[in-house]
Amino acid sequence: MNESKYLIKGATLPSGESADIAIADGTFIEVGKAGSLDAAGSTVIEATGLQALPGLVDLHTHLREPGREDAETVYTGSQAAAKGGFTAVHAMANTDPVADTAGVVEQVWRLGREAGWCEVRPVGAVTRGLEGEHMAELGAMAESAAGVTMFSDDGKCVSDAVLMRRALEYVKAFGGVIAQHAQEPRLTENAQMNESPLSGQLGLTGWPAVAEEAIIARDVLLTQHVNSRLHVCHVSTAGSVEVVRWAKSKGINVTAEVTPHHLLLTDELAATYNPVYKVNPPLRSREDVEALRAGLADGTIDAIATDHAPHPTEDKECEWDAAAFGMLGLETALSVAIHTMIETGLLDWQGVADRMSHAPANIGRVYGQGQPIATGNAANLTLVDAATKWTVVPRDLASMSTNTPYKAMELPGTIQATFYQGVPTVLDAQLAQQKRSEA
Ligand SMILES: [Zn+2]
Repeated sequence: MNESKYLIKGATLPSGESADIAIADGTFIEVGKAGSLDAAGSTVIEATGLQALPGLVDLHTHLREPGREDAETVYTGSQAAAKGGFTAVHAMANTDPVADTAGVVEQVWRLGREAGWCEVRPVGAVTRGLEGEHMAELGAMAESAAGVTMFSDDGKCVSDAVLMRRALEYVKAFGGVIAQHAQEPRLTENAQMNESPLSGQLGLTGWPAVAEEAIIARDVLLTQHVNSRLHVCHVSTAGSVEVVRWAKSKGINVTAEVTPHHLLLTDELAATYNPVYKVNPPLRSREDVEALRAGLADGTIDAIATDHAPHPTEDKECEWDAAAFGMLGLETALSVAIHTMIETGLLDWQGVADRMSHAPANIGRVYGQGQPIATGNAANLTLVDAATKWTVVPRDLASMSTNTPYKAMELPGTIQATFYQGVPTVLDAQLAQQKRSEA
C-alpha cells in the first residue's frame, strides 16, 4: 500500500552521515546516501537537519493500569512514549492488581497491542503482591503471551536475601533478569529526601546513599554466586556507580540504568518543599550527578530509563510528607539526555542511540528493536530536531498526569516524528491520527 510507504529525506544518522531512509511493510527497505533514493509512490518526510535515532526503548515505565486509571492508562502512557520518541516501554508491575500472574501481564500486554502506539512489555512482579514474602509465578508469566523476561518489585526492594537468591536462580531457566529497586528498607523508614545536612535543616527524614549501595553490593555478589543476571534500577549515587563498576570488572553479569532526573536535578530542590521534586530514590547531590553522568558516559551505567511515574494532582499537590513519590519522564527524556550528555560532550549521538535504544532493548530482550537504522531492520525510529528548544507546559503533555519537574524549563530537542514498526505514531511533532490497526 502506497500510504504505508515513506521516504525520509536527508536525515542525519547516529554515525553522522546524511541518509535517505525508505520505509515499507514495517521495515527499512533501503537506507542510502542522502539524495540517492527515489520518492515515487512514497509519502516524503523532509528531514534535512534532523537527527535520526533508532526507536527509543524504556526499561522503566509506570503505566498505572490496571488500578490507577486516574493517573495514566496503557493508552495515554504509550501516547506519551510515542511523543517522547519511544517505540517500546517496559510496564512496571506495581499496579492494582499487581502484575504477578500470567493473567495480569497478558492484560497489560493486550492493552498495549490494542493501543498500538508502541510496544508495551509487561514486567512481572518478583514476589506475590509485591509483599516480599513468596515468589510470584515467574515461569507462568514467562510462558504467557506477554513473554515476560524482566521481573521487578519496583517501588519496593526485594530485601530478603534468600528470596532474591531464589529469584535470580529461577530466571536462569528462561534467560530472564531480575531488576532490583535497591533500597534497604530499615535504613529508609519514613525517608523523604536525600540524607544530607540539608535534610536535617529542612526537618525531612533522610534516605542515605548507603541504603542503595548496600543492596547493590549484596545483589551483585548473589548474582555472581548463582551465575545469573541482575539489572539495577535507577542508580542514584556515586557509590552505586563504584559498586557496579567493580562488579563489571569482576565479570559479574550486571547492568544498570539511570533516570534523566538523576542526571540533571539535585537535592537542593527539596528546599522548595514542592513535592513535584519528591521521588524515590531521591534527588541527590551535585557530586552524585557528576558521577552518574561519568558512569553513563564510560558504560558503567548501560541505559537511561525514565521511571515515568504519573500521579493525579491530589497525590502530588499536598504537603511534602504526604505526597506520592515520582515524576513524569517519557516526553522529556531525550531532551534531558541531549542537555546533560550531548551538550556537555560526554556522549555523541551514537552513544545516545546506545544508551536509549540498543542497550535497553538488549537488557529487556525486545526483539526487533534497538537495531541500527539499516536496510532490512524493523522500521522503529525517531527524528529529533536537536537545534530547537521547547518550553515544558505540563498540560500540553500527552500523559494524563502533569507532575513534571521541568515545568517552564526550556529544553533542547523536539521530537518531529516517531515510527513504530513502519507506521508513524508522531508526525510534524504531533501524535499521528492514523492508528496502527488502520494502517
Ligand atoms: Zn523504583
